[in-house]
Parts: sequence; C-alpha cells; structure tokens
Amino acid sequence: MSYSNLRRGLLMLGGLLILCSQLQLAQAADKFRWKMVTTWPPNFPVFQEGVERFAKNVETMSDGRLKIQVFPGGKLVPALQTFDAVSQGTVQIGHGAAYYWAGKVPAAQFMTTVPFGITAKGMNAWFYYGGGLALWDELYAPFNLKAFPAGNTGVQMGGWFNKEINSVDDLKGLKMRIPGLGGKVLSKAGGTPVLLAGGEIYTALERGTIDATEWVGPHHDERLGLYRAAKHYYFPGWHEPGTVLELIVNTKAWGELPKDLQKIVEIAAQALNLDMYSEFEAKNIQSLRELRDKYKVDIKQFPPEVLSELKRLTEETLNEEAEKDASFKKVYEAYQAFQADNDAWNSIADDAYNKARQ
Ligand code: CA
Repeated sequence: MSYSNLRRGLLMLGGLLILCSQLQLAQAADKFRWKMVTTWPPNFPVFQEGVERFAKNVETMSDGRLKIQVFPGGKLVPALQTFDAVSQGTVQIGHGAAYYWAGKVPAAQFMTTVPFGITAKGMNAWFYYGGGLALWDELYAPFNLKAFPAGNTGVQMGGWFNKEINSVDDLKGLKMRIPGLGGKVLSKAGGTPVLLAGGEIYTALERGTIDATEWVGPHHDERLGLYRAAKHYYFPGWHEPGTVLELIVNTKAWGELPKDLQKIVEIAAQALNLDMYSEFEAKNIQSLRELRDKYKVDIKQFPPEVLSELKRLTEETLNEEAEKDASFKKVYEAYQAFQADNDAWNSIADDAYNKARQ
C-alpha cells in the first residue's frame, strides 16, 4: 500500500468514526426518560393498571426511545401534588382527575364531570370535535400543562345508604361522603357532605360516622366491600355522570419531544381513554351481577322528585360558581351549549333506541 493510499484510508476511517459518534450522539439525544406520577394507590384496579399499560405502550411504539417510569400516589410525591409536580417540571407527566384541582382552576371541574352533565360518549365528542380540549389547554396553559382525556368511569352509582331515600326530606341531615360540586348540591338540599379518602370510607360507613357514601361504580364499590356496611344501593350517579381521567404533560418536556414521539404520546393517550372506559364497563357488568345475585344487594333508583330537586339545585350551584369565576363562566357556557345539542341528538338516538327496546 502506498503512503498516499494509506493516508486516504486513515482519513476515510477517521471520517467514518466521526460520523459514527455523531450518529450515537443523535441517538442519545433522541432518547427520553420520563417520570410519571399519579393520584392513584399502587396497583389500584383499572386506574393505576391502565396507566401502567399506557407507559408500556409508549415504550413499545417508540422502540424504547421514550421510556416512562410510573410512580403511584405517595411514592415520589403525595397523590394530590401530581398537578404541581408536573406543572413545576419535577416530573414530565402525570395522571389523575381535573376536578381534584378545583381549588386552583374551578373550571377544570367541567373537564372531569359535573352533576347532571354529559356522559362519556358526549364528553369524547366535546373534547375531540367540539372545542372542549382546546378550552382545557387554555385553562392549563398558565400552569405549563398540556392535557389529554385519558379514561372514563362511565356513569357512576348514586351510592350506598343506610336508610331509604323516599323523598327530598330524607336528604336533610344526611351525612354523606360526596366530594366536589355534588357535595355542594347535597348541602343545599340540607345534607352534610363529608370528605373522606378511599381508605377511610368503609369504616366510617360501617361505624355510622357517615350515613351514606358514593364511591365509583359496581366494580370498585364491590372491591371496597361497601355492601357489608350499608343496605341500600342507589342509582343513577347524578353527581358523576361520566368521570373523565386526565393525562397532564409539562409543556417544556412536551416541546423537547420530536414530532413522532409527540404523536405516539397523543395516540397512546387516546388508546388509554378508550381502554380504561371499556374496562370499566366490562367490570361493572360483572360486579353488578355479583352484587345483585351473590350478595343480594338492594339496588334501587332515586325517586324522580328527588332527582328533579337535585337537578334544580345543581343549576343554582353552577350559576353561583359562574358568578365567582370568569373562566368557570366561559367554560360553563360552552359546555351548556354542547350539552343542549348533545341532548337533542341523544333524545332521538341512544335514548329513543333504549326506550324502543324496553
Ligand atoms: Ca365518585
């Protein structure tokens, strides 16, 4: 080999090495490691399990370029600091429910559920094709957060009562675990809303510290053993007609993701939204059968006059909240307009069809 050939060869090899290390650097820069916190206890069925599946899906779809390590509530930060942790960039992503942040963002309650509001199907239509998601991003922008709907419990149950509810008078003096706007409505009806975490509910109901409680739906209610603590199980969950779970991403972390990884997160969030809702529906069907047939639970409907009074008090409550907060008012108006159209369509679609089948 001549000297000039050797020199050319070495130069080429050098060039190749530089190219390789540049490629490695590019690959390293293209790898993202995110931390995710949630508001759910470890292994919490459907909720936390769904989130773990979401993280696995993102890793698989991105061929490992985006890895999300999931921490249940209390592991990295307390459950109810999920919003702040993602907002401040302590972690990149979180999962919970927007109505937990009502103290900071009152209008966020519309992004989860409001009493006598829109059900799961309509909420998805509102978010994806009715301007709801754009309003949500507008609400969260001051907190450096981007939101995605990511799960739905479906219509919840009205709750467990240790006495029958036959009239509006039976709500007077009723001590019930019921959070948020539902609790405000109950207090207008003369009841006393009590705030209790999931882990405290069973004992409080069993010992008579409270007279009633709502929780989620047949599946989670059965797992908590509430049928052993109270006799009467009422429907429908007027206060939570389609509770939406949320995925929140820090906007700076989001901006650092290349377009393809952003799309993977967005589509995985849509998949989670459908996945969790479907699992809830399937498990509620199964648990309802067990509660009815195995545990002989007395499952009954709230009397129509109780529901219509609660509906009247809900309108009063929402109007009062709208007076206190301009963005609550703005979102309420958009939500109401969509709900009216959605109701008109449903009345000749799902509602009419269900009636026709009976
Ligand atoms: Ca609930």
